[in-house]
Amino acid sequence: MKPTSYIKSLPVRDRISISQPLGLDTINLGYNELPFKPTKQIALAIEKIKQSAGSYGDPMCFDLRSKIEDVYDIKKEKVICGNGSEELIDVIARNFVSSDDEILISEFGYIQFVLAANRLNAKLVKASEKLFCTDVDQILGKVSSKTKLIFMANPNNPTGTFIELGEIRRLIENIPTNVALVLDLAYGEFVSFDYCRQIHNLVDQYENVIVTRTFSKAFGLAGLRVGWCHAPTEMISGFYAARGMGSVNAMAQAAAIASLDDIEEIQSRVNLIIDERERVARALLKIGVHTLPSRANFLLASTNNQDAQTIEGLVQFLFNEAGIIVNRTRETGLEGFMRFSLSFPENNELLIKTCSRYLAEGLS
Ligand SMILES: *Cc1c(COP(=O)(O)O)cnc(C)c1O
Repeated sequence: MKPTSYIKSLPVRDRISISQPLGLDTINLGYNELPFKPTKQIALAIEKIKQSAGSYGDPMCFDLRSKIEDVYDIKKEKVICGNGSEELIDVIARNFVSSDDEILISEFGYIQFVLAANRLNAKLVKASEKLFCTDVDQILGKVSSKTKLIFMANPNNPTGTFIELGEIRRLIENIPTNVALVLDLAYGEFVSFDYCRQIHNLVDQYENVIVTRTFSKAFGLAGLRVGWCHAPTEMISGFYAARGMGSVNAMAQAAAIASLDDIEEIQSRVNLIIDERERVARALLKIGVHTLPSRANFLLASTNNQDAQTIEGLVQFLFNEAGIIVNRTRETGLEGFMRFSLSFPENNELLIKTCSRYLAEGLS
């Protein structure tokens, strides 16, 4: 008999724990994190909340949602926070999708969308991409009477590519209103804060648009686990019902509030990463490493002919010679790529130099 809650398993990989052969400190560029330490204000907030470790955090995240309302001018009644946006992706999927319903994503869409569909035993439908970029016409072509949700990360992970607001609007205008469109803005700040604002405006203009945000990337709080979702007011109570009561811990709430109080510092950090993104892409191109046009804080890179073995060798070389850990993308169609986050200029320089050595020494 077929079990009712069969979940497709994925290979489980541990964080790299083997020691660096030359005894070098490792530099992890594999998780799209920012390299910075918490800002002074964030560190102070964390220090302060330690005293209250015995008390529950606010299940409704009232202060954090109020801060989000102040900073982004988004009504707090339309916001729910979660244990990272990862939890919210799951919560949203559980609200709209039953087994045998369809979730539609782009070909190289974010892995969490795939996992959310698997957990619900929903059918995952993929729309092919053009030049590793979301293609609205292909998505529209895959919408069926069973489609309940479209998940789209914009910019996308792992490709880093994004589509313009006009294309998103065209998508919304052409899908049935009973299909919810989730726009995952995990990397929106690396396009611009203004772009994020324009995307949020869509939630007020259409009844079926949901936006998710995270404090893990631009705000540098990945380890504390906090994200939020902006949705039509009518959807929010259903999301609370599907979410864990205490899923956003007190320290995460305090740190997220402090980061919004420190938004100018966050913005200047984002700007440094954006500058590095453009500089590193140009420098790599000169030595024969191609990158996709990224609007995120990472680059998806390949060598000539997108050869999988050459990239495999480069990934190993970066670790063995420089202690640099990158993400070896293994998704079908991306076997010839590696993904790495932009870091401080000195780390990026080391990456460029080491790539250059690998290619010059003919180790490929
Ligand atoms: C990193 C990332 C997130 C953020 O996940 P959290 O659970 O908030 O840490 C969301 N969406 C995408 C596409 C990401 O790459």
